[in-house]
Amino acid sequence: MADTTLDKIVSLCKRRGFIFQSSEVYGGLAGAWDYGPLGVALKNNIRDFWWKEMTQMNDNIVGLDSSILMHPKVWEASGHVENFTDPLVDCKACRSRFRADQIDLDGPCPTCGNKGTFTEPRNFNLMFSTHIGAVKDEGSLIYLRPETAQGIYLDFKPVVQSSRVKVPFGIAQVGKAFRNEITTKFFIFRSTEFEQMEMQFFCKPGSDDQWFAFWREQRMEFYQKMGINPAKLRWHRHGSDELAFYAKEAYDIQYLFPMGWQELEGVHNRTDYDLTQHQKFSGKDLTYLDQETKERYIPYVVETSAGLTRNVLMALSDAYGEEQLEDGEERIVLRFHPKIAPITVAVFPLVKKDGLAEKAAALEKEMRADFATFHDQSGAIGRRYRRMDEIGTPYCVTVDYQTLTDNTVTLRYRDSMRQERVAIDNLVNKINYESRNYQRAEK
Ligand code: ATP
Repeated sequence: MADTTLDKIVSLCKRRGFIFQSSEVYGGLAGAWDYGPLGVALKNNIRDFWWKEMTQMNDNIVGLDSSILMHPKVWEASGHVENFTDPLVDCKACRSRFRADQIDLDGPCPTCGNKGTFTEPRNFNLMFSTHIGAVKDEGSLIYLRPETAQGIYLDFKPVVQSSRVKVPFGIAQVGKAFRNEITTKFFIFRSTEFEQMEMQFFCKPGSDDQWFAFWREQRMEFYQKMGINPAKLRWHRHGSDELAFYAKEAYDIQYLFPMGWQELEGVHNRTDYDLTQHQKFSGKDLTYLDQETKERYIPYVVETSAGLTRNVLMALSDAYGEEQLEDGEERIVLRFHPKIAPITVAVFPLVKKDGLAEKAAALEKEMRADFATFHDQSGAIGRRYRRMDEIGTPYCVTVDYQTLTDNTVTLRYRDSMRQERVAIDNLVNKINYESRNYQRAEK
């Protein structure tokens, strides 16, 4: 049942242009994905919502876009060269490769069913490496960043020096990260190239527990504001066996994906570990001077680390529904919150003739300044509504014969399929109001 839903989402994504496999004509590349016209719109909307919630709604959070390529010492200092590894085993019979912590090493091979065929686990570093410059030697070795956070730590000092921020404050960043994952199953859930939305909050040692609690609450609220079903969200606290060696405390927000409960975002108390390490490895002073109390210290860091591309899969899974309609037909519907829907308003003429098509086209053009719009005049109106349901467009506007006499249109709601008459003069206000007050009825 669960896997069927994931398969259906994969198929819908391909059919309607949300997500394609990378390099498909060459047989694809494992763990690499392309976001098509609707997928990139969805991803950008989630990103923009996160960015606004972080940097616009908080006066003590600033943005950053740091480089993907960094000095190789960064990853020595952070511990990634030594510790960013997964235990890897191979099946000697069929050569399939697994993460040792994800299978039963005493059980049969999940691929070929043979028993007792696994190699001894060996550590495998997840960082992709490459070379900078013309000479490929050890001195030119660099890495593609496996997380965006380190760029934030390195820019902590320049941000303090150049902005008016004072501890406690945060730096937010959205960007690509790369991990040479051993297993890349579940569609885009675990990819080799993905995007993260990370915020590092710098606070005074001793106040970290309080900020940790604050950010946990904020992050759960974020998903509720995005319209995600709260029954499918939960906290998972890292036990001592899971806790990263530098972390004081860590919680994951998990979502009930079609394949089960899985991590969506991590909220971590990273202490002063990263800044202390960079101070040690660079020899530069990374302490903070509190201008008022004249105290000097290395701030503690509370990190909120969400996968943007994993959020896309979560949003699709949460929105996906199949419904049996009264006329016996079935509809597929993506019930996205209007804030993240790739298209907000579709405008249709009821029929193409008698000037309705021109009127609808003009109306759609007029609304472009306010919404992501779409115009479609081909096929029966019911079919056009279904196509919009399937890609999650919350509002459809239809221009009909009555429009020509009283300048009103039909506004049709995706979730309830209810229709009402609205004056064109009031249409933008009405849709803005509806989308701000949107509440999804859970099914
Ligand atoms: P896992 O244990 O699943 O490998 P992690 O605990 O290493 O993940 P973090 O390093 O905490 O993950 O990364 C923060 C967030 O980045 C995750 O919650 C997830 O949303 C996202 N993320 C991590 N790895 C991937 C990946 N390979 N593909 C897509 N998103 C990822």
